[in-house]
Amino acid sequence: ECERYEERTPESAAMAEDLRELVPAGVCSTFRAYDPYPVHAARAEGGSIYDVDGNEYLDFALNNGTQLVGHTHPTLEEAAVDQIERGTLYTRPTDLIEFAARPLIDRWDAIEQVRFTNSGTESIMHATRLARAYTGREKIIRMEGAYHGAHDPALVSKMPPLEQAGPERDPRPVRESRGVPDSVPEDILLAQYNDAESVERLLRDHGAEVAAVLVEPACLNLGLVEPEDGFLERLRELADEYNVVLIFDEVKTGVKLAPGGGAEYYGVQPDLVALAKAIGGGYPVGAFGGRREIMDCIAADLNEGVATGAAHYGTYNGNPLALRAVGVTLREILTEDAYDHVTTLADRLADGYRDVIADTGLEATVKSVGSQGMVHFTDEPIRTFRDWGHVDEEFHEAYWFGMVNRGVIPHPHDASQQWTVSVQHTAEEIDAHVDAFADLATHLTAA
Ligand code: PMP
Repeated sequence: ECERYEERTPESAAMAEDLRELVPAGVCSTFRAYDPYPVHAARAEGGSIYDVDGNEYLDFALNNGTQLVGHTHPTLEEAAVDQIERGTLYTRPTDLIEFAARPLIDRWDAIEQVRFTNSGTESIMHATRLARAYTGREKIIRMEGAYHGAHDPALVSKMPPLEQAGPERDPRPVRESRGVPDSVPEDILLAQYNDAESVERLLRDHGAEVAAVLVEPACLNLGLVEPEDGFLERLRELADEYNVVLIFDEVKTGVKLAPGGGAEYYGVQPDLVALAKAIGGGYPVGAFGGRREIMDCIAADLNEGVATGAAHYGTYNGNPLALRAVGVTLREILTEDAYDHVTTLADRLADGYRDVIADTGLEATVKSVGSQGMVHFTDEPIRTFRDWGHVDEEFHEAYWFGMVNRGVIPHPHDASQQWTVSVQHTAEEIDAHVDAFADLATHLTAA
């Protein structure tokens, strides 16, 4: 499949070579680099993306799921052009704050107040700082193997190599990057997703030092790992018992599993929610919000010279273009009908995969929740990071390139990722995706 990929994409190859001279690995986020080189984009529209060689791909990667609205949605495009004409940045409050904040407050019971950021990384960084300010404690409990952004503490034990990770019951913190100071892992306590006992043990031993439990309601950087019955409920109880802040990282799950994210879908409300990606319809924006009592800790008086709360600064925070995008996306595009549409099509896609798998006898598991879904080529259940070894990453790579060669980008390039079905995808496009998989599957089973 790799040979065919290279035959189809000579312009991408040439561009990759040129760009590697200018920017490390030829990409602007390390995650985007892969061998032999990424497909280089020329433009995107609706449910498709087009490369510099003129190939069209049905796009289910959708920028790591930011484009639940699809690409170039006409309603969003019109609003953005209008906003550009009115000015894209004025660092003064406007009524656009209400336009963007209200739908988030309406969608999450947990969100009484919200602040805007520019990315998921910033949202997590500020939510955890705020939790520390509120509790006066420093340690954060997080799940081994989860991804929570690119800032220093988030890079502790994000998918660590298992041979360095220590025992499952007592994981050793592993830094994902050189340059993360030695002291950073000291404040990170590692639990296992879907194992409330592991969180309870940490709280029993360190409860008085713990500011927050940070968790994705469904783990969307391990494919798609859903919480088992009672897991999130138990975290809610433990957070209350030990007076720690429960933070949901809804950067990926937010507005994609359900209108009110994983909190609504699984019926458990955290104290703070971190958001980004799909809330902005493709514009760079994030947000964090939660209970008023906690949000009140964000410093209002900057002139005292003494910190009275948690700082939250940023030139581009709540810029008018991003706020307009959030408001239009949530109020006008992601309507109830839109959710019916993406959920129906995502179910159709997952069922199509299941039929192909049954017909061909491939060993595979298909999962689907809301607009999200994925396939892993194993029958073994993946319920925590420690099960990751069951995933046949090499086989998955063959699947991914095989799909790209057949005109479908099934998800971002990595077995840890999942597909997003957008508002603009059609039933015909879903069927074309399934047909491509059916064609590929006969080759995969023969190989
Ligand atoms: N949290 C989760 C769960 C994510 O998946 C990501 C990005 N993939 C982030 C945080 C960081 O978001 P951003 O890339 O916008 O900084």
